[in-house]
Amino acid sequence: MTRNRASTRYIVIHSSATPPNMPVDAATIDRWHRARGWLMVGYNRVIRRDGVIEQGRPDDAVGAHAGPDYNAVSVAVCMAGGVAEDGKTPEANFTPEQWASLEKLVREWKDRYPEAQVVGHRDINSTECPSFAVKEWAASVGL
Ligand SMILES: [Zn+2]
Repeated sequence: MTRNRASTRYIVIHSSATPPNMPVDAATIDRWHRARGWLMVGYNRVIRRDGVIEQGRPDDAVGAHAGPDYNAVSVAVCMAGGVAEDGKTPEANFTPEQWASLEKLVREWKDRYPEAQVVGHRDINSTECPSFAVKEWAASVGL
């Protein structure tokens, strides 16, 4: 069973680091993460290429996405995409539907977890994920 967080200090944005033509959804990531021996998909939500927001772990559950210290105090969303066709070069190739869904979801989460700071995975761990400057994006949409 998942366990619930005592507090939510961060809203962490990830990408799946897959090319834009690859259809990735919560079930896909669930398979990847179970193959690593994890309980289930490590993110709380997944935003598909078509902008549909899927549930991963329950929103209040501790995830598996940014190392134990951050997992315990953050809620996480993963956007499908984030690398070029070569499968590795970071690229903010998200669809307009995904950007709109991300904004909607982060607004919901800011209402629910008002003390939480919106960050990108790369702001807290050594990674290129999610391939864009989350704080600049958040400021640009008034979050
Ligand atoms: Zn990430």
